[in-house]
Amino acid sequence: MSEYILEMKNITKEFPGVKALDNVNFKVKRGEIHCLVGENGSGKSTLMKVLSGFHVHGSYNGQIIFEGNEMKFKSIYDSEKVGIVTIYQELALIPELTIYENIFLGHEIENNGVIDWNKTILESSNMLKKLGYEMDTSKKVKELGVGLQQIVEIAKALSKNVKLLILDEPTSSLNETDSENLLRIVKDLKKHGITSILISHKLKEVLEVADTITILRDGLTITTIENKNITENDIVKYMVGREIEDIYPKRHHMIGEKLFEIKNWKAYDKKDGKYVVKSASFHVKKGEIVGIAGLIGAGRTELAHSIFGNPDDYVVSGELYFDGKLQKFKSTEDAIKAGIAYVSEDRKGNGLILDFDIKTNITIANLKKLIKNGVYVNENEEIIVSEKYRKSLKIKSHSIEQKVLNLSGGNQQKVQLAKWLFVSPKLLILDEPTRGIDVGAKHEIYTIMNKLVEEGMSIIMISSELPEVLGMSDRIYVMAGGKIVGELNSQEATQEKIMTMAVEY
Ligand code: ADP
Ligand code: MG
Repeated sequence: MSEYILEMKNITKEFPGVKALDNVNFKVKRGEIHCLVGENGSGKSTLMKVLSGFHVHGSYNGQIIFEGNEMKFKSIYDSEKVGIVTIYQELALIPELTIYENIFLGHEIENNGVIDWNKTILESSNMLKKLGYEMDTSKKVKELGVGLQQIVEIAKALSKNVKLLILDEPTSSLNETDSENLLRIVKDLKKHGITSILISHKLKEVLEVADTITILRDGLTITTIENKNITENDIVKYMVGREIEDIYPKRHHMIGEKLFEIKNWKAYDKKDGKYVVKSASFHVKKGEIVGIAGLIGAGRTELAHSIFGNPDDYVVSGELYFDGKLQKFKSTEDAIKAGIAYVSEDRKGNGLILDFDIKTNITIANLKKLIKNGVYVNENEEIIVSEKYRKSLKIKSHSIEQKVLNLSGGNQQKVQLAKWLFVSPKLLILDEPTRGIDVGAKHEIYTIMNKLVEEGMSIIMISSELPEVLGMSDRIYVMAGGKIVGELNSQEATQEKIMTMAVEY
């Protein structure tokens, strides 16, 4: 028996105008966890779709050898029959159905042509138990959070007698606890002999779980290497194809006097009927990047929202000083007028209008700037401004007329940044500025942040990624349970110190 459960040889896959995969070779050892990494668009998902039969035999060139035999899948069903199961980036469960219905959907347990529901329910619970979860499987999937939905997907894979499990960016929408659970399960499955291919842009997690790592770039296999022989910096270098001495670029900036300060800040959430910010006092100086760290649910986003003037959602108390004056923002417009901008964590939800083009998204928050002599929207100016940002922020797109919907996550984030830069705020609040984007685009966003503070802007960065908080902040505040529980300067801060504050308040 070969050491390799899977060999993909010389795979080439073209779409109209794009060679997504160019002679890719990819070998996976039996029983290992093999991580596949690469920037957005490097071909990871396409390679896995070739493997799963989503892109059918004949639509690509090259060979797939699975357990020693050549495979010519005509559908996903064919690959699942031999034990290759993919969990896609977009979850494929049916929200209206129960957990057990979902787990056995498409391969129902039958008895004389009739579905055996008792057995279905029993087996579903067993699958979940194997994964360490005891739950009522008659719940509808829509009642579960994304974390549990992923678990149900894995249970579904187990029910199909999976030999090779493929997870395409499973943790990108999960919080830390759910991500850790998922990775624990993948490691557990390994103990039971199940081979996994894990696609992830979170290099920390890749380095934690991988036996072997393959790096793709622009549709080419750059290298396959054992985890123990590679560092995070090497991976980044292979991914982006250029030297990055440091993921976090150096900056040369002058920190000035206090620009912003809140004292005894409290925010009461009207909808939830409770205090989401119980006590927060902190300040930001001119030209400073202040990081706000904390666990999910610590109240960081609520803090930002309450500062940004959302009287419909929150009742706030305490003092807010901005630009030397005690201020009260009755609306977000007030906050914007004063010079504060907030880039939300949820790009798709409320940051951008996906159906509109780049140009409109960039200028929409500040159309005033485009009014000349009382005439609404100076279109020429709109084009010039958007082109300027498209170039300076390196927004990858064919033109400013392209719909934001079709951009990658990193480029959508840049459009959001451009939108608020056009407002030219004094204080920019960035909420999870690099969530879900690849390391090359992250580096570019950090570079933009540095340039802004060098020009005198101040930034509050809310982030759950501790390396990012440590790499980018001049000072760090830690939030827990709705309170700011500690402050650290960049020299003294470590991941351990932050975590200790975040959990022990
Ligand atoms: P990754 O998963 O690494 O982010 P993908 O495999 O999704 O990358 O995409 C690789 C390239 O192929 C990209 O340039 C993408 O735009 C293109 N591509 C992927 N799927 C399609 C498709 N169905 N039609 C056209 N182009 C596609
Ligand atoms: Mg992908």
